[in-house]
Amino acid sequence: MAAVRLVFLGPPGSGKGTQARRASERFGLIAISSGEVLRGEIRRATEIGQQARSYVESGALVPDEVITAMMLGAIDSLHGAGFVFDGFPRTVPQAEALEAGLGERGAPLDAAIDFRVDDGQIIARLADRRVCKDCGATYNMRFLPPRRADRCDACGGEIEQRSDDRADVIARRLEAYRSQTAPLIEFYSDRSQLRCVDADRSAAEVESSVTAIVEELGAGR
Ligand code: AMP
Repeated sequence: MAAVRLVFLGPPGSGKGTQARRASERFGLIAISSGEVLRGEIRRATEIGQQARSYVESGALVPDEVITAMMLGAIDSLHGAGFVFDGFPRTVPQAEALEAGLGERGAPLDAAIDFRVDDGQIIARLADRRVCKDCGATYNMRFLPPRRADRCDACGGEIEQRSDDRADVIARRLEAYRSQTAPLIEFYSDRSQLRCVDADRSAAEVESSVTAIVEELGAGR
């Protein structure tokens, strides 16, 4: 399969992280979650981590310059491999910077897939979400539980609740999504790069829709 380049859009809790991992396993694409990279930087107290920490903890977006430099650096480390970005871009200036950066590298985006989910579902999904401390795999204690209650299926690591999955921070993240990220739907639609999936279904059903889109994009090359 050709090196497909994708962005997964959608509100927190829409399941795009889970689907990015599945697409990565199925198609050999490299999945990069900007939130996961940031949490690693914060844990290691790097310069980026120190710049990002207060924003991530409060549910606000990290400044565009910080995140854009970090993610364009990540593209260079892929050496031309196909990728799925989960959580980046999240603002129009980030999307413009990504478009320019990919253009300079002669490797334009194939599509932005928007994961559509009902507002009421989001709160329930985030409240029950748990992540693996070691590998970042995501679970939902109601809809997608791990086989053992406190351990990751993939790596055996301990699973925990993210500190920004608390109700007050969730409200701030949803507000950031609506005001700053939702305009990207129009951005990608204007460029005929937008694809949509109904994410109000089981992970397996959503996965088959994503698989069909990626296969179509790969075949069109
Ligand atoms: P996520 O794991 O995608 O929900 O991201 C967790 C947090 O990381 C967000 O609430 C933001 O504070 C920060 N973050 C992740 N990606 C971005 C981005 N593209 N732009 C700005 N902030 C981001």
